[in-house]
Amino acid sequence: MPASTTVPSDRVESDPNNPSLMDTSGPASQSQAVILSNLDSNQVSWFKRWSLAILAISVASISVPLSFLQPAKISIDPHDYGARTKHVLSTSPLIDGHNDLPHLIRIELYGKMYDGSLNLNDKLLGHTDVQRMRKGQMGGQFWSVFVECETVVGIDDPTWVVRDTLEQIDITRRFIEEYPSVFQYCDNPQCARTAFKAGRIASMIGIEGGHQVGNSLGAIRQMYDLGARYITTTHNCDNAFATAASTVAAGGEDKGLTSFGHEYVKEMNRLGMMIDLSHVSHQTMRDVLSVTRSPIIFSHSGAYSVQKHLRHAPDDVLRGIKRNGGIIMAVFVNRFLNMKHPEEATIHDVVDHIMHIVAVAGWEHVGVGSDFSGTPSTPIGLEDVSKYPDLVALLMERGATDEQIRLFAGENLLRVWAAIEKRGIEIQAEGTKPNEAVWEERIKGWATGFANSPFMFRSTREQRKDIKRTAHNFNVNGDGVHKPE
Ligand SMILES: [Zn+2]
Repeated sequence: MPASTTVPSDRVESDPNNPSLMDTSGPASQSQAVILSNLDSNQVSWFKRWSLAILAISVASISVPLSFLQPAKISIDPHDYGARTKHVLSTSPLIDGHNDLPHLIRIELYGKMYDGSLNLNDKLLGHTDVQRMRKGQMGGQFWSVFVECETVVGIDDPTWVVRDTLEQIDITRRFIEEYPSVFQYCDNPQCARTAFKAGRIASMIGIEGGHQVGNSLGAIRQMYDLGARYITTTHNCDNAFATAASTVAAGGEDKGLTSFGHEYVKEMNRLGMMIDLSHVSHQTMRDVLSVTRSPIIFSHSGAYSVQKHLRHAPDDVLRGIKRNGGIIMAVFVNRFLNMKHPEEATIHDVVDHIMHIVAVAGWEHVGVGSDFSGTPSTPIGLEDVSKYPDLVALLMERGATDEQIRLFAGENLLRVWAAIEKRGIEIQAEGTKPNEAVWEERIKGWATGFANSPFMFRSTREQRKDIKRTAHNFNVNGDGVHKPE
């Protein structure tokens, strides 16, 4: 008899304590392990019967625990908002558009997480940790990589902000990787659905400010390649693309989108990258909506009609979002919700913003974009990431159907993201090359070449022969040491 093939005992071994699992037709003395290694015709029929039974048991054991992922037709009392919420959020992903946790890892831990100082499974201070994300039934999160607006005056003054943004992307990718059973890094909407079905929180990257790409379309392309999927067109400072809401709030002129901003929109459309209009001025919102070929997003904003804060979108813009096919994700920042008494802001204020957006633009164009871990104080009733179900239950109380909640929670965002990706593919299929536009302010300071540059074109050499070159002029002396001329 040939040597037995080793078979894992918990999979196919007969159980002597359970006669129903024993073979009653074959030779009782033969072990199944032996049969697997030496199949004659009787043994083949034995194996076929049992393999079918084993297959059936395996399928049942896999499908039963996963059955909760299917939108089963179960009867829930329509007024039991808690039960309805639990059911909807376990069958449709809730995806938040904006959370600033990576910024906290930067400023509190200097990006260090392997020395045990960062344990997201602990109950942490602030708004975000794994336990509370699970309690909040989160299905996905756009993690904001944020670096402050420069303190320098000029838009194109030298700054480290692009380097710092690269570091923030690195931090984000690393903390996602540190928790493989909790988070799944995603750079496309299908991945987000797959992650949710596997019980993980889909984790995406958004850049919070056009200043973070150094006013450069080339830098945007590289950020895209590193995984960033939206750019907030401005943060609280103007840049080469557009005017920020904060500039207008401070009494500055609302110049909207610049001419270079039009090139930015074209390139974002071509890339299939999401243009985020949170933080921009009202004119910028209108300008972008008038020229974009793709839907737009607001990753964390509200309705201006509900609270007259310039960070919010006015009604004509909400109607524009509806026409554009985009989405506005409701923000939880107290001072945007209650300008006079921020400390009195509540979950009901957020509900009011959502219901107003719904009234003007419809349930197909609203979502959730908290700004958790990026704002110091949060509304009463929406203190942290565990509270999304309470928000959903209140929306149900205000009449939202389960289907409308699915749209609000994540389906709208996934639809908009997929549409933006698709449009990008179409634009590229038209033969549109990467946009080579350069902000003209930069051209002025562009390097003019070395004094002894060999040049490529006669015309360039002619143009530049009178330009005084100082900063870039170097010669190498006999020791190989660079020596300024
Ligand atoms: Zn923000």
